[in-house]
Amino acid sequence: MAEDMHGEAVHRPAPRKARPKPKAAAAAPPHAAAAPEHPAAAHAVSGVSPEAAMARLVAGNERYASGFSAHPDNDLARRTLVSSGQTPFATILACADSRVAPELIFDQGLGDLFVCRVAGNVVDDALLASLEYSVIHLGSSLIMTLGHERCGAVKATLDALEGRGSPEDAGTKIGALAALITPAVNAIQPGVADRLDAAVSINASHAAAEIFVRSPPLRARVLAGKLKIVAARYDLDDGRVTPTRA
Ligand SMILES: [Zn+2]
Repeated sequence: MAEDMHGEAVHRPAPRKARPKPKAAAAAPPHAAAAPEHPAAAHAVSGVSPEAAMARLVAGNERYASGFSAHPDNDLARRTLVSSGQTPFATILACADSRVAPELIFDQGLGDLFVCRVAGNVVDDALLASLEYSVIHLGSSLIMTLGHERCGAVKATLDALEGRGSPEDAGTKIGALAALITPAVNAIQPGVADRLDAAVSINASHAAAEIFVRSPPLRARVLAGKLKIVAARYDLDDGRVTPTRA
């Protein structure tokens, strides 16, 4: 289990070669999403391994972090190609934070990623259902729960638990969100200097574990080697995604 969530070195060196443009894109009719020559469309038929999906994320993040984003799959031809169907190769559960846009930080385009975003990248029933859908119905073979540096939702939870809650949150549902993050804050080891950053990593790992524990179909796929669930942290300063250590 731990290996499934943490076994991939997201920061490992990766080729910067951009994904090839779909050969059929320029002349593709609107129904061409199922054309077997298109790499994305081929997923539903041949499947993309969890390892290959991770490699694409690693390569894309390397391009982004180093300032060489290729901005693939975002033109008119791509839009036409994927208009009749989607086969995202990976699923990202990310925070809603405006600085953590998965398509940008992994340098992907339309139809590449199934992205679920909620403040604090927590897992509730609606989120879990969305993640299940992306795997079971769309063929995604990788789920990444993605926390990030200086997460406001995690910080708000940390502050509230330490008696520094904001009076402006009264009457809101922010407390309900914080309740989902609280287990991560409570799991911070004593003596940790940067409690917020520790909670961010723990929270992402908890989300990955929640998915594994609460979804029997996804758990079965993980155990069969057909799906990986990994937890990672995004660094706002250098743009890099690395595995959580929590
Ligand atoms: Zn956040």
